[in-house]
Amino acid sequence: MSDEANPFESLQEQIDDAAAYLDVAPDVINRLKYPQRILETNLSVQMDDGTVDVFQAFRSQFNGDRGPYKGGIRYHPNVSRDEVKALSGWMVYKCAVVDIPYGGGKGGIVIDPSEHSESELERITRAFATELRPLIGEDRDIPAPDVNTGQREMNWIKDTYETLEGTTAPGVITGKAPDSGGSAGRVEATGRSTMLTAREAFDYLDKDIDGATVAVQGYGNAGWIAANLIDELGANVVAVSDSSGGIYKEGGFDPKAVKEAKNESGSVTSYDDYDEELSNEELLTLDVDLLVPAALENAIDGDLAQDVQADVVVEAANGPLTPDADDVLTERDVSVFPDILANAGGVTVSYFEWVQNRQRFYWTEERVNDELERIIVDAFENIVDAYESKDLPNFRTAAYVVAIERVAKAYQQSGNWP
Ligand code: NAD
Repeated sequence: MSDEANPFESLQEQIDDAAAYLDVAPDVINRLKYPQRILETNLSVQMDDGTVDVFQAFRSQFNGDRGPYKGGIRYHPNVSRDEVKALSGWMVYKCAVVDIPYGGGKGGIVIDPSEHSESELERITRAFATELRPLIGEDRDIPAPDVNTGQREMNWIKDTYETLEGTTAPGVITGKAPDSGGSAGRVEATGRSTMLTAREAFDYLDKDIDGATVAVQGYGNAGWIAANLIDELGANVVAVSDSSGGIYKEGGFDPKAVKEAKNESGSVTSYDDYDEELSNEELLTLDVDLLVPAALENAIDGDLAQDVQADVVVEAANGPLTPDADDVLTERDVSVFPDILANAGGVTVSYFEWVQNRQRFYWTEERVNDELERIIVDAFENIVDAYESKDLPNFRTAAYVVAIERVAKAYQQSGNWP
């Protein structure tokens, strides 16, 4: 994985690339390239042995022109101010491209959660929630899960907020467990929109998804669900990986069996029914019909992009391609369907969760999945329309063109104040 590209600079470059095709004034575009505010805090938390440790944490509120800030909370040793800024900006354009009424935010703690007990993680999470309390709220900023966080952390944040505020406000955070106000279908939503994007992409490109070969980098929430649902379309998941490495099987894996092995031992490489082990680089450059990067940003840089052999790339992760990689793949006619569309299922079903929380009326999983499909298919069509009608170089630029136009309109309709 390259650590050369600064994700915040990548975001700004993506905005500039799209702005070249938009009739939006340069001062408005400039305003859309920077976060509105960032909380940086150092959480001091007592460890199980009685000592106190300090954890750096961030929350970036990038843009609220279309609604409350919205975006996940990541626990990872590489979390940084610029990473959080980039991820919060991607959320703005993701919410706009699927046309849900949110702005964008993102947060994170610099931590390796595998080094901490559950009780330490609970105290760290509650300390962060206490710092976040003045900034978040059902109508202000609504966090959600991201890498290394899930229902457990969301439930702790909701409980901390509600206890301190002396109220019930399940819509202050999404991605909760169903018994704590979570939505049916939320856990699968990111993988589901990745599958829907892949299905629509193959249809649009006149390729058959049934029998297509697929490589998936990253086998966490987004990657494994995407692998499983794409397999259900008849495709063959021939390679998977996680941070322990990758495995290849010519006849295709049973995604559920690989997931069970990973649940038991913590890694996909412990699954024993494979033909070959692969490095992550080998996985990313396999000759497959579809490549799904579902790990972290900057997985493919300009150099590696020269060796990518997949025909179609559908980004489940946020920012897995550097701008250089994008240029190379555009040049080489590889069709890349961007993160802000492909993984937007997570935030879309978070939106459904928030709607259900506020109405205190809960939907069936079937309704959630049907509404999600409608939103992703509509967004896909809007992107393809922009791509064709404006003769755009790739689908990422098309997605930003659609999204920036919407955010700029909302900003201009409200006016600049004070
Ligand atoms: P996760 O923690 O559940 O899984 C991440 C996976 O990536 C793990 O299997 C990990 O081992 C693997 N990984 C890490 N480094 C790797 C490397 N160098 N090579 C190969 N694999 C590696 O996280 P997740 O929630 O699935 O998130 C993955 C990506 O999807 C992130 O970019 C995240 O921002 C994005 N995303 C997630 C959601 C969601 O709802 N979970 C929504 C939108 C976007």
